[in-house]
Amino acid sequence: MKALTNSDLRDLQQKVEALSDKAEPRATLTVLLRWIESHQEKMMSLPFSDYGLDKFSQFRLEDYPVSKSSLRGRELEHFRRTVSKLSLKDLAFVAMFIRDSLEALLMPEVDGECPRCNGYSIAVFKNKCDGKLLLLCKTCGFGWYFDAAQDTGGKREYEFATERELRKYGLV
Ligand SMILES: [Zn+2]
Repeated sequence: MKALTNSDLRDLQQKVEALSDKAEPRATLTVLLRWIESHQEKMMSLPFSDYGLDKFSQFRLEDYPVSKSSLRGRELEHFRRTVSKLSLKDLAFVAMFIRDSLEALLMPEVDGECPRCNGYSIAVFKNKCDGKLLLLCKTCGFGWYFDAAQDTGGKREYEFATERELRKYGLV
């Protein structure tokens, strides 16, 4: 397995720096996905595979409601500043930060309240195991089915819901 090098990281930093302050979430997502694709082999090794970054090549970004992402304006500014400070010394942070940024780009937040902690930062996911939509509290990590009656207590594996799936539930 090949390891990520300084010049690989510098390549990402330069592409993110080149984004405009007014870049749309789609432009930011494209930069991240192309970078992941061009380092696919490295993404298959730790710590990147732990964060699922090896699963993002072949991703069809047109299937996802990326324009709804809040990663723009001030959040984009924060994203760019953090990317500029990424270092090989803390690779786990690099992997986690990229994964979190992808989530912020691909996962719309919806109105709602967490039944466990009463937080208001609620995101929509899909349970890969049964194809049903789940709501996930970004504050405490509690997840529950969009329709409580669907909860059979089965296995859960989170994946991003597509725009078409969200539309079915009136969420986009
Ligand atoms: Zn919560």
